[in-house]
Formats: sequence, C-alpha cells, structure tokens
Amino acid sequence: MTETLKSLNVYFDVDHTLVYTTQEMSSLRPGAQEAMALLKEAGHSVYVWSAGGQLYSERTVKKHGLTEWVDGCFDKHPRVDPSPDLIIDDDWYLVEKYGGYCVSQYKEVNENDRELLEIADKLTAPPNM
Ligand SMILES: [Mg+2]
Repeated sequence: MTETLKSLNVYFDVDHTLVYTTQEMSSLRPGAQEAMALLKEAGHSVYVWSAGGQLYSERTVKKHGLTEWVDGCFDKHPRVDPSPDLIIDDDWYLVEKYGGYCVSQYKEVNENDRELLEIADKLTAPPNM
C-alpha cells in the first residue's frame, strides 16, 4: 500500500486557526482557502470543527466563502464522524491527542502568515521529494 495515496480526513479548527474574530470583525487567516483547495486537489477530505458548535463552524465557512472546499462542519466532539486522521489546531493538547499540526494562535491580522499553506504543502508534496 502506498501511504501517499491515502485519502485523509483533515479537520481545521476555527478560532485562532482559521480565523481571528472580534466583536466587530472576523479575519480569515491568509492561505486558508488555498490550503483547503490544495488538500482537496490531492484527494483529501476537508472538515471544519469548533468547540463553538456545528452552526458556528458552518457560519464561519460561509462567511469566508470556503463552502466549495469543505466537506462538512462539526462540533468539536471526540466521536465525530468521520474520525479525523489529522487536525490543524492552535491547541497543542488536541494535536497531541488526534495527531496533526499545531499552528501559532492567529490573534491579529497578519497578511504574511503562511502557516496553513506550509502545512498543506507538506501534506500534498509528491513522494520522494
Ligand atoms: Mg482554536
């Protein structure tokens, strides 16, 4: 079996991973849409989940025009279905638990942030490179 051909269930966290949100605004982390598009192109499934609940996840995805790349939105529940193969989260504890990538907390608008794109690049790199 070729590991690189395995289709992965990739779960993105919302707050401080995909978006920085205040009372007045919600700012999408740079590269978020491109990262999702890369993952989808590579045959992976993209999910968004949040401790804020399924509805909050759905609203965030819609608000930032990510619907096209997202296969599902969920509450952050340990028995979520399909089960995550890896997560992308700013909470190191959860990344230890599920496996995946810990990102720095996106807590201010930073147009130079490339963390999500770098992760997507790693996950979609051709084999033997
Ligand atoms: Mg978070």
